[in-house]
Amino acid sequence: LICALGWSSCSHLNPQTFRSDREIEARIEKILGGLTLEEKVGQMCQLTVGMVIDNSDPQNPFISDALLDTVIGHYKVGSILNIPFGIGQPREVWLRVINKIQQRSLDELGIPCIYGVDQIHGASYTVGATFFPQGINMGASLNCDLMRRSSEITAYETRACGIPWNFAPVMDLGRDPRWPRMWESYGEDVCINTRMAVASVSGMQGDDPNHIAPNRVAACLKHFMAYGVPVSGQDRTPSSVTRNALREKYFIPFMESIREGALSLMVNSASNDGMPFHANHELLTGWLKEELDWDGLIVTDWNDIYNLCDRDHIAATRKEAVALAINAGIDMAMVPSDWKFCDYLRELVQERVVPMSRIDDAVRRVLRLKMRLGLFKEPFIKAEEFDRFACDEFSAVALQAAEESMILLKNESDLLPLKRSTRILLTGPNAHSMRCLNGGWSYSWQGDRCDEFAGEYHTIYEALNRKFDHVIWIPGVEYGTSEENWQTEYVTGIDRAVAAAAHADVIIACVGENSYCETPGNINDLNLSSNQQQLVRALTVTGKPMILILNEGRPRLVREIEPLVQAIVDILLPGNYGGDALANLLAGNANFSGRLPFTYPRWPDALATYDFKPCQQMGPMEGEYNYDAVMDVQWPFGYGLSYTRFTYSNFKTKCSEFRDGDCLTFSVDVTNTGNRSGKEVVMLWSSDLVASLTPDVIRLRNFEKIELAPGETRTVTLSIPASDLAFVGYDGRWRLEAGEFRIRMGSEATVIRCSETRIYETPNLPQV
Ligand code: BGC
Repeated sequence: LICALGWSSCSHLNPQTFRSDREIEARIEKILGGLTLEEKVGQMCQLTVGMVIDNSDPQNPFISDALLDTVIGHYKVGSILNIPFGIGQPREVWLRVINKIQQRSLDELGIPCIYGVDQIHGASYTVGATFFPQGINMGASLNCDLMRRSSEITAYETRACGIPWNFAPVMDLGRDPRWPRMWESYGEDVCINTRMAVASVSGMQGDDPNHIAPNRVAACLKHFMAYGVPVSGQDRTPSSVTRNALREKYFIPFMESIREGALSLMVNSASNDGMPFHANHELLTGWLKEELDWDGLIVTDWNDIYNLCDRDHIAATRKEAVALAINAGIDMAMVPSDWKFCDYLRELVQERVVPMSRIDDAVRRVLRLKMRLGLFKEPFIKAEEFDRFACDEFSAVALQAAEESMILLKNESDLLPLKRSTRILLTGPNAHSMRCLNGGWSYSWQGDRCDEFAGEYHTIYEALNRKFDHVIWIPGVEYGTSEENWQTEYVTGIDRAVAAAAHADVIIACVGENSYCETPGNINDLNLSSNQQQLVRALTVTGKPMILILNEGRPRLVREIEPLVQAIVDILLPGNYGGDALANLLAGNANFSGRLPFTYPRWPDALATYDFKPCQQMGPMEGEYNYDAVMDVQWPFGYGLSYTRFTYSNFKTKCSEFRDGDCLTFSVDVTNTGNRSGKEVVMLWSSDLVASLTPDVIRLRNFEKIELAPGETRTVTLSIPASDLAFVGYDGRWRLEAGEFRIRMGSEATVIRCSETRIYETPNLPQV
């Protein structure tokens, strides 16, 4: 299907810096000149209409006229979001609702409304759409072409609903597994997040961001930035990241996606070092708009302007909060909860607290987004042009993505793959649940309606039942059903599972997490829940070999049960095709090729990312006083087994001596020495051996996924620009320092030397 290509040259980023279109700009000026202040601030406001729906005919839900009178008639809002009914709807219903909003906006304001939704793993609020694995799985697949294609399909199916704006991709570096949104990200690494985000933006928006095709959508990069490292581990709470780390790591996926042409961005709800991102002029206006010369739109997260007052206490009144945020560079307010935002903003302009030039700049950005999406020319979608909605080719891509994203972590004595005739006891709370396979943002915010809406897809149990001759399913442990307690409350039937194991050759225990999203997913204990561990322990008395399936949005700790099982697969959150994908892999009809996009911790109090200095991969830390400081992890970042083996040889480079501006190219021969075909992710790693700041111990710089038949050898060539080896120095400036770097691909490594130090004049690395 999709053949994976990596960065094939140094021009891995879109070579043309994206520029605005003169004709569009002229039209914007014309419209802007005719708007009143009231109309302008309306364009800067985004409201939800989820609460008031005319439900008199449940088969034909429709948005109420009274509500539109208020939202569009009175407040003249420029945008509406999420979700007319709180849960997924078929695309016809979406289309009816959005067309009605659109018609009203055109009649009333003469300006189309832009509707936005979180369709983060496929058109995931649309019943009947193609659901892909969540972001963390896409990170594990390390297949950028699959990411691009799945985003293209997501865009198509989203636009088929009349929705032109998608609040995706999520490119927060998921560097703290306690954080309940880790699974929305592509994992902990800068390179993977950047590559996946860029692929997703180009898949959603297409090649010309000035003219988005009618079957594509505008991307919204989120959440700017460092959202994935809250000090407490709890969602929407403060981080404490240094400016250097912001610049060197967290900013990169956003910067490169903007260079790719991303049209909008959403701000991190929380604060860093006491400064809420929504009030941070330096970052919003300075880094994003001025340094990158970016003309895209910045939208807040939910109610986050008022949070500057209500929660963060950096403004005494909500009105003051509006001034802070708009003056910092916010262009659109998502759901100011009391709807007075427009009044406050108008007064602030009249009182000269917010300059008119700032309002005009923001409104230009809103209008620009609408123009680029073609909403002025084609405000309505022609449903009949979307006849490929949920077609077989789309589901084949989703199945492939699910297969490529599952990670084989242990396979003692080649227990896997299993024969068709193997008698299987299937157990665990995740074995028969579409909800667990999908996670949050699936038909509903918390994903709790999946089993109702995804009935035609296969749970793990259903998929294994189709693939193997003898499958018995005994849950053993089940998640609770009450709404408040579904995460923590369990029903157990462990004895029944143990008794049933007598009739099985092998036990497959599906454990992990139930679906959750955002703050309801906060936890106080990273360990896998005790009764799931108890189930596994109890089953060991049977003496039957056991396969542990981890179905989770973040790594739940399994150090005590890991030694009790013979095989382990982490399927993360693979989506609607997850059951089928797993069945194919367990039966050996497909081969494993996913790699951990995060460091899998062993202990709750020993959390580290792979680039952290004393990481286990690198062995004990050197130095007289620190030789015990080894980070004891369960599995390292990048880990993942296959049913075949790959060997590396003949590592070559022509750039053993280099300087800034050079393209560094490395090649290595990869051979499939096993007896099955398989996909291997060839990774290029770098270590700066000595630098003026203690360097990261190792960094992933490039990767490519290839497929090899048994016995086949391929030469893989990977390049990086020399500037990839630069870092942000103590003075906050990017620098590439003279000295040695170790470069590794697989088991092969070499040392190359940079001949001269270069300190960059611009705050960002040059565009390649
Ligand atoms: C989330 C965002 C999302 C928004 C709109 C917020 O609570 O943090 O990621 O885009 O809601 O649904």
